[in-house]
This record gives sequence, structure tokens and C-alpha cells, in this order.
Amino acid sequence: MKLGNPIEVAPGLHQLRAFGARVTVLSAGEDALLIDAGSRGSAALIVSGLRALRLRPEQVSTVVLTHHHPDHAGGLAQVVEWTNARVAAHRLDAGVIGGAEHWPDPSKRGLVARVARSVVRALSSRPVTVDIQLEDGDVLPFADEVKVIHTPGHTLGSISLFIPSKGAVVIGDALQYRMRRLSPPAARFTADMGMAHRSLAKLLELDFDTICFSHFPALTENAHRELALLVERLSTRRLEWQV
Ligand SMILES: [Zn+2]
Ligand SMILES: [Zn+2]
Repeated sequence: MKLGNPIEVAPGLHQLRAFGARVTVLSAGEDALLIDAGSRGSAALIVSGLRALRLRPEQVSTVVLTHHHPDHAGGLAQVVEWTNARVAAHRLDAGVIGGAEHWPDPSKRGLVARVARSVVRALSSRPVTVDIQLEDGDVLPFADEVKVIHTPGHTLGSISLFIPSKGAVVIGDALQYRMRRLSPPAARFTADMGMAHRSLAKLLELDFDTICFSHFPALTENAHRELALLVERLSTRRLEWQV
């Protein structure tokens, strides 16, 4: 998949690879919604992807972030400048996106924290104020229904976006898809793995057959069944540990 080239997941639902992470574009009539903004420098790729979809940057009314990590939020400042869109993110990640809080925690020392800090610096640009602080169950202001599902664990304010008309859920980094198999988020970059596992079980309550990831191509068949199998595997493993 060439950078910036939109791939159709369903009619009106596309993903394009920006720097760092995939960006999801949802369009309905004249209105467009972006999910995530890639890392710093991604805005030009996103705008060229929009053009390929015959969308003008001004048609993007909202950019919603799945979480605050810089491979998803680093491109935000320029995307907002070019589109004039409002920014939505979960309340618990809004502080880092807006620059009031820092990630990783500045009090953390050691090599991992030092490396993480330099990666964050390389991928980020300036902070952006979150206009709409989201909560679980909120519905985004958009022509098509887009429901906010709080799926904490990867970060405390991680969200998934459920789009019932497409039978799709956009999960950010809440899941990986390696070797044709779903797996939980990467432990190294995840704040609370127990919480992340519980969030996966919560996603099973939704009616979908497509999962859009941030770092892997979308899974467009049997996604709900695959997730049910993963949740079952994780709970069996937990029981084995307890014995
Ligand atoms: Zn992440
Ligand atoms: Zn990511």
C-alpha cells in the first residue's frame, strides 16, 4: 500500500497509510471525518489521499483521535491548520494531546524512558487543544452514526469508533493482526495490559464484521468471530495462570 493511497474498506470508508500509522477517512455526502492524523509531516499525504477520494480538506469537519500516541497525533496540528476541523478525543487523553500533560511521564528515568522521549519528540509537532472531550457512548457529530467506545488499556483514554452502517469498528492500537491472527496490543507500549484485555471483551458486545487497525490492513471478514476466539484464548490463559 503506497503512502497516502486510499484503500476502500467499505463504500464511504477508506484507510490510507500516513507516516507512522494509518488514517481512516469516513465520508457521507459533503461531510468527511478523519480518524487519527499520523505522525509529524503526515498532513500532505492525508490531503493527497482526500483529493484522490474527491474530497477537499475543508470538507473534513472533525478529526477524532483513537489515543494520544505521537504516531497518531503528531500530524494533527498541520491537519487542523489545513482543514479547519474540530478535534475530538477521549477526556483522559486530551491532556497529552493539548500539551497540559506529558507522555511518557517526565518523572520516569532509565533507558526506556529516555528512548521513548526522543521517539515522541521526533514524531510530534506542537500540541493541539481538544475541542470535544469524549466519553464512552458519545455519538460524534457526523452525518453517519459513529459511536465512541472507551477501550482503555493501550492508553487510559484509548477509544474505538463503531460505525454501524458499515458493520465496522476502528480500534486504533487496541489490537494487532500478525501472522493472520488477532492479538492484544504491544505490551511495551501499553499502559495496562489487564485493562486492555477487558476492553477487547467489551468490543464483543458490538455487531461488526470488519476491524480497521492502525498498523495492519483491515480485517473485512469474520472479524467478530476472530475477536471472540482471541478473548476466549486470553481468558483460558488467565485461568491456567491461576491454577
Ligand atoms: Zn499507540
Ligand atoms: Zn500506533
